[in-house]
Amino acid sequence: MSSADEVPAAGGGSSNNINYRGQLVLFPLPFQGHINPMLQLANILHAKAGFKNITIIHTDLNSPNQSNYPQFTFKSISDGLSDESCSLINLDTSNSVINFLNKSCIDPFKACLCKLLAQVVEDDEPPVACLISDALWHFTQSVADSLNLPRIVLRTSSMSCIPAYATFVLGQQSYLKTSSLKQELSLMTEKDRQSIIYKGDSEEGNKELIASMIQETKAASGIILNTFKELEEAACLALTQDFRIPIFPIGPFHKYFPASSSSLLEQDRGSISWLDLQPISSVVYVSFGSIAQVSEAEFSDMAWGLASSNQRFLWVVRPGSVCGSEWLESLPKGFMEEVGERGCIVKWAPQQQVLAHKATGAFWTHSGWNSTLESICEGVPMICSPCSYDQPINARYVTDVWRIGVMLDNWRMNRREIGRAIKRVFDMDNDEGIEMRQRSKSLQHKVNLSLQRGGTAYRSLENLVDHICNLSF
Ligand code: UDP
Repeated sequence: MSSADEVPAAGGGSSNNINYRGQLVLFPLPFQGHINPMLQLANILHAKAGFKNITIIHTDLNSPNQSNYPQFTFKSISDGLSDESCSLINLDTSNSVINFLNKSCIDPFKACLCKLLAQVVEDDEPPVACLISDALWHFTQSVADSLNLPRIVLRTSSMSCIPAYATFVLGQQSYLKTSSLKQELSLMTEKDRQSIIYKGDSEEGNKELIASMIQETKAASGIILNTFKELEEAACLALTQDFRIPIFPIGPFHKYFPASSSSLLEQDRGSISWLDLQPISSVVYVSFGSIAQVSEAEFSDMAWGLASSNQRFLWVVRPGSVCGSEWLESLPKGFMEEVGERGCIVKWAPQQQVLAHKATGAFWTHSGWNSTLESICEGVPMICSPCSYDQPINARYVTDVWRIGVMLDNWRMNRREIGRAIKRVFDMDNDEGIEMRQRSKSLQHKVNLSLQRGGTAYRSLENLVDHICNLSF
């Protein structure tokens, strides 16, 4: 969007008189895949929708880099996690950490919010219009209710993930009544369904988290989603009927602003210089996001799989992402010599720029929602190796609903299968590879239309601004 596309003032107000829009308080969940969309949303509401007074409440864990956001006010709360437990957060522990935080943050969050609201009155500032919290901060609904403050939820996963969780984790049947959604959900295999709950997690703890997240989202004053309607029509219809609160699919958020400044790790710009030297559409970009881990054996197979594909690759190996290694110690002997200039390994990349780069031809991903959406936006087909949570759902949509990628099951992660999956996506002598690329480009086109003036995401953002303004004035 250009500045000319700024969303007009709601309710007939003047965009110069932005004070009537009131203040906003945002509360991101402290994980990279949640911080990025919340801070992008803050930027959208600030720069595109005229909310000039935004406060971000954040935990000590993974606190955002405030110097990148001088336009916002930051307030930190204590989260009750010891330094030791913070250092142990990984896939095994992330959901139990979220369950813990939903209890330990109640009092500090409420105290912080009360103080802020009192300050607003004392200073005679425009009132706080609403709280926008991550859907997984389910405790915030009762805090907001107790303070008479409307709460809008930001859900950072796909829209289809909610019906899939409700059906496969909570055993609800209601979403199977919508025929198009039923058809999509029926594409999920038994293994997909089993994988939603991570094997290292407590099943009860997971169910409790998902049930509370859905219940408290239904009690909210609206839900904002980092997706767009055309991508998830069936889920959009089903949620509209089931949730009975306004739904705002205004994404993809990162398309409103060129780069993300909310990265918790330093992005290696050398990856872009390396890509600059590669031929068009020749590189497979490999990244498994901010939390996923692989065993040493899987890491070794990934390496040999990349080598055997004969494809150029840019590989993000996040420090700590190989169990038992600090970084590259477990790379197989002879691998670097074998791949030579054909491969580049970095600790963390500017992913959105990498995906938008003309040299990038495919993305081997763990199918986190941000990664999936970022790939869709650039028309880049995917090789999906999902692990848990929403990843198996996202991956199934990529391979079987939108048909813009291939599945590479973790249990088949051997070098031969890896090489084969990469070749399938790059094979331009074959209808499968050609059609996958065409469908990816067509979906990219739909994203762009949706964000343009009059498009569904654009209109949803206008509706969201109206909605927030009407909540309190
Ligand atoms: N990311 C990045 N550099 C990397 C790898 C990932 O900036 O080298 C960003 C990526 O662009 C995305 C986020 O980290 O916005 C990962 O979110 P996702 O939902 O895909 O996965 P998660 O980390 O939550 O598992």
